[in-house]
Amino acid sequence: MGIAGLDQRFPIHRIYCVGRNFAAHAREMGGQPDRAPPFFFAKPADAVIQADRVPYPHRTSELHHEVELVVALNSGGRGLTAGDATACIYGHAIGVDLTRRDLQSEAKAAGRPWETAKAFDASAPISDIVPVAGTGHPRQGAIRLKVNGELRQSGRLEDMIWPVPEMLAELSSYFELQAGDLVFTGTPAGVGRLLPGDRVQATIDGLGSLEFEMDG
Ligand code: MN
Repeated sequence: MGIAGLDQRFPIHRIYCVGRNFAAHAREMGGQPDRAPPFFFAKPADAVIQADRVPYPHRTSELHHEVELVVALNSGGRGLTAGDATACIYGHAIGVDLTRRDLQSEAKAAGRPWETAKAFDASAPISDIVPVAGTGHPRQGAIRLKVNGELRQSGRLEDMIWPVPEMLAELSSYFELQAGDLVFTGTPAGVGRLLPGDRVQATIDGLGSLEFEMDG
């Protein structure tokens, strides 16, 4: 994927995602926010899409947007401390964790896996990576998503239940993190439906914006 201001590409290894990392979003999904350990799921590396137009997925009548801070790693390891994990971060991007909410709700109710809800083709629109070397680590600031100019999601990075360093440390207790890994770090409240033709604009302070249109 692209790197802001550079001709180089960032080769993707894996995409990890964290669930329920903002209290207000946990509540809107019917859960109770707490400091229980974060839980993780994954998308395939080729789910990333960097394009003006994103294909609208089949087999859903409830496609949802989830704007998220994405962390890109250029080194890794197992059993990392929060400090070790921070040193592995190459940069950050703005991502949208596209979700077939109807299929996710069915899967949750039936105790089934989430792949059809979360890991479909082009389910991870993402901006170019902004290297830490340029802007440091965005730990506070606004994270927002608009649809057709209307503000849908609005949160603050400092309101994450699990801040990025601690979350990466926890993730590294399950998986050996590697260069090329991307981590979607959870979405603030306000998730909602996308329709074909919708224009999406996602922003995070310090990282610019990600814009795309849902194809019909
Ligand atoms: Mn998400």
